[in-house]
Amino acid sequence: MAPAVATFTSFPYWWLAAQPAPCPAELPGEVDVVVIGGGYTGLSAALTLARHGRSVAVLDSQTAGHGASSRNGGMLGPSFHKLSVDALIAKYGEDKARLFLRESVASMDYTLALIEAEAIDCDLQRVGRFRAAVLPQHLESMKREADRLSRYIDLRAESVERADQHREIGSDLYHGGMLYHRDAGLHPAKYLSGLLAAARRAGALVMGQTRVRGIQRNQGTWHVETSAGKIRAGQVLLATNGYTDPAWPWFRRRLVPVQAAIIATEPVGQDVMDRLFPRRRMHGETRRMMNFYRPSPDGTRILLGGRPPVLRGKSDAHTATHLHGKLARIFPELSNTQVEYIWRGNVAFTFDHVPHTGQHDGIHYALGYCGSGVGRSTYFGHKAALKMLGKQEGRSVFDELPFSGFPGYTGTPWFLPAVLAGYTLQDHIDLRFKSSLKGK
Ligand SMILES: Cc1cc2nc3c(=O)[nH]c(=O)nc-3n(C[C@H](O)[C@H](O)[C@H](O)COP(=O)(O)OP(=O)(O)OC[C@H]3O[C@@H](n4cnc5c(N)ncnc54)[C@H](O)[C@@H]3O)c2cc1C
Repeated sequence: MAPAVATFTSFPYWWLAAQPAPCPAELPGEVDVVVIGGGYTGLSAALTLARHGRSVAVLDSQTAGHGASSRNGGMLGPSFHKLSVDALIAKYGEDKARLFLRESVASMDYTLALIEAEAIDCDLQRVGRFRAAVLPQHLESMKREADRLSRYIDLRAESVERADQHREIGSDLYHGGMLYHRDAGLHPAKYLSGLLAAARRAGALVMGQTRVRGIQRNQGTWHVETSAGKIRAGQVLLATNGYTDPAWPWFRRRLVPVQAAIIATEPVGQDVMDRLFPRRRMHGETRRMMNFYRPSPDGTRILLGGRPPVLRGKSDAHTATHLHGKLARIFPELSNTQVEYIWRGNVAFTFDHVPHTGQHDGIHYALGYCGSGVGRSTYFGHKAALKMLGKQEGRSVFDELPFSGFPGYTGTPWFLPAVLAGYTLQDHIDLRFKSSLKGK
């Protein structure tokens, strides 16, 4: 084990300030709506439903927020980089692509407005995000993308040349990058606890340690079987994202759960922070197995996330070593900085790389945020609630997308190690050969 990971704790750093607490409650006999899953999606939906006078029970098999919603990187943005504007246009046509982009911005705006309206104290920092180019040609394609974003939805992104990148990041690893001014950072666990409090204030019941095992509809009423007993409901919303279990085979066939991990370093000095993160922004990169990193909201520690190693051991020690190696490659001066915390969580990818919301067999759902769910889950939970209330405003351009699985896939992503190993290899090849070709 590398000396820098000699003593770490397997525990989400965020939980030091806001650990999801058990939510004991008594299961009511009947409610208007049962929401399955107590993360951002479920709580945001519950808030909207309760505000419209519906009786709501949010049921979570762990505690509310135990899933990705209290463990993520806390980076808030419209996440355009997941699907390029050109790819959207090629697949859906220009008009629809514009609507997708607009709604992506709307998801972020909705989340920011909610935080303000509910006065959620979640260390919101509107600092922007710097997405670094791993290869010189990536900067060129990001510039083209920025051009399109400004043309289609009037969104400004600023390119930063390599010669100027030190004003954004104290690293020589990159070839410049793109600055997304509207993006923000927050404390994900504090945000979760603020959203939970808001849903409760509005009248929603939130209950932990209650796994939903199955549901059946009889004469318009859902009979929901849980580990805490039975409950009847007029409507049901599935909000289980990367934790969707075998009780929901139709959804499992359409979601690919992927584990991500984050490390938090020991506190570093202010001088170090000033050098490495002069603007205290959120950070990402263009590689396939990308790293995301940021200062902690109090500006004392550095957090870096990515996928656990594919081919080496899967223990926390291996993962911490792997992620620390990535951190030290970006910032060599952190080679001896200790990792103090490591934790993992699940994201859910879809086969078309976009989130999905709608109804299947009468079950409402909102899920599949492909690793960018802080804003999207809050927004699509709200949208799903509006749809359940029969409101026109619940409609979304994302509703119209077919939600497809993959032939033969039943929910266990046996192919993932091979796919991720392929991405890692492609990243290596790009770095070895494409960067040297460009240099000639
Ligand atoms: C390490 C990591 C870093 C990330 N970083 C970012 C980031 O920086 N920016 C960003 O935008 N997104 C990020 N994400 C993604 C984001 O966190 C998620 O998209 C978002 O939290 C999803 O919220 P959710 O409510 O849909 O699901 P979750 O928060 O995962 O909640 C699902 C809940 O369903 C419950 N559940 C499952 N099955 C059942 C059942 N049968 N009965 C009852 N309950 C059940 C689970 O216990 C869980 O609490 C990250 C995710 C991870 C894991």
